[in-house]
Amino acid sequence: MKNYTISFILLIALFISAINVYSQFPDELIARKEIFVEFNLNSATDTKAQLEKLNKVISISDFDIEDLRVEAYVSINKYDEFNELGYNYKLLTPPSMLLSRADLDKDESKGVNEWDYYPNWQQYNDMMQQFADGYPTICELISIGQSAEGRDILFLHIGDSIDTETNEPEFMYTSSIHGDELTGYVLTLRLADYLLSNYGNDERVTNLVDNVDIWINPMANPDGTFAGGNNSVYGATRFNSNGVDMNRNYPDPEDGPHPDGNAYQQATTLFMNFASERDFVMSANFHGGAEVINYPWDTWSKLSADDDWWYFVSREYADTVHQYAPAYYMRDLDNGVTNGYQWYSISGGRQDYMNYYQHCREVTAEISSTKLPSASQLPDFWNWNYRSLLNYMEQVLYGVRGLVTNASNGNTIKAKVFANSHDFDESYVYSTASNGNYQRLLKSGLYSLTFSALGYYDKTVPMVAAIDYGTTILNVQLEPITSIVDAKKVFARVYPNPASQYVKLDFAHDGEHTVQLIDIQGKVISEFLTSETQLQIPLDNVSPGKYLISIKAFSGDSFVVNLVVN
Ligand SMILES: [Zn+2]
Repeated sequence: MKNYTISFILLIALFISAINVYSQFPDELIARKEIFVEFNLNSATDTKAQLEKLNKVISISDFDIEDLRVEAYVSINKYDEFNELGYNYKLLTPPSMLLSRADLDKDESKGVNEWDYYPNWQQYNDMMQQFADGYPTICELISIGQSAEGRDILFLHIGDSIDTETNEPEFMYTSSIHGDELTGYVLTLRLADYLLSNYGNDERVTNLVDNVDIWINPMANPDGTFAGGNNSVYGATRFNSNGVDMNRNYPDPEDGPHPDGNAYQQATTLFMNFASERDFVMSANFHGGAEVINYPWDTWSKLSADDDWWYFVSREYADTVHQYAPAYYMRDLDNGVTNGYQWYSISGGRQDYMNYYQHCREVTAEISSTKLPSASQLPDFWNWNYRSLLNYMEQVLYGVRGLVTNASNGNTIKAKVFANSHDFDESYVYSTASNGNYQRLLKSGLYSLTFSALGYYDKTVPMVAAIDYGTTILNVQLEPITSIVDAKKVFARVYPNPASQYVKLDFAHDGEHTVQLIDIQGKVISEFLTSETQLQIPLDNVSPGKYLISIKAFSGDSFVVNLVVN
């Protein structure tokens, strides 16, 4: 692939002579802070282990299960570490430099926007502003903050009531966290235009705008996308300007905070704060380099509690595409869909973060095998995908939904909505604090749902029917706890009591708890701050006697229980 192929012998020679190999690359590549490589795994026996080890050093962008071919990006920061692993790699031309600028940029001689170019930085900003200016009653432009290099991270907020808090489910489309995967950049821009210009005329569009709180972020990594300058996406990088893959930079359900060993990047923090402020029910993150809908989890082999629902909505996306696209398009893995881990595992991805930590349903949509296809192909990608973009968004209106309110005064409540014998790995959802609305997306079937909130008696609704493409409305009133005795009972379970080696606490509700072990003189023996649902306090060094355990919840509620240590 073009002129960057460096022979294996030369690389070995450089390695042996202990020269900084990276500095031997063309200046053009060094300035980019990342290289793009391909190589084969050493053997078929320990594929997963090899990939897991590689994941800590490089950013794998594709893996061919049959010939064990890995395609990956190596950051300048990690190059030496990668080189020491000894893979016989081939340097590839960066995907954003395979075509000429003329194949990517707007032809200024053409006056009309035919959606057949990648807007440059200014064109993108202008277009986003024009959407908001052109449709002020249903669209606003929001910056959630600036990237490391000072570029705004922009969202279009589209809906029939953008100024007021409603009980509509919140939905997000975001693209190009990998700065050089840009098909979704133009498709999400075009989707915004499609929604805005067809509102009031097209029934499907009107239904979506009227009933969904829609958020669209066409460009999540502008510093990467415009690494080659603001005038063109030519030269875009996968990583941000610090050489960090931001789709490996999120807290991970298995590996916890900083799974990539990097600080949270500015854009990562902005996204996490934004997601925490909003109540996203569903989202999709667009990528390129493959053609497959990749659903949770990426980090571990365990299936999602909603694996059947995930397969259903992913299948719907790909199958709809198949009806309108040429036979070759979106056929990777299981005919265009895959469980993330079954393809290849990653840590720190945004999809798993959104699902696990934000209780949202986010999918990774890989929509073009070429990361940066010729701009003239963009209208085709739109025609193949736009019905699926609408389908997927419509799914947010289905499942079981309703309001959770206080039975005595009607105020809305933030409550946990837990599907019994179904939910695990944080798959439950919450009603929103602002309006009490919850939305539990489920594959058709009968479910038992328990609603719980601090200060209220739990309520279980044993038979709730969820229907594919149907909406079940279930409003729930929770009775506030008025008696102190009951309040203690539902607050936390403390056991065993009397205790000897340890004492355990099961908290009835989520959130942060401060727990203190206090002796009879009032002296604090030990103190714990936890946001887990269970805490084990060791008592090995605690002398026998009477103690108090004080529990303070995030809400400010607290209570004290007597503990006997034998
Ligand atoms: Zn990607």
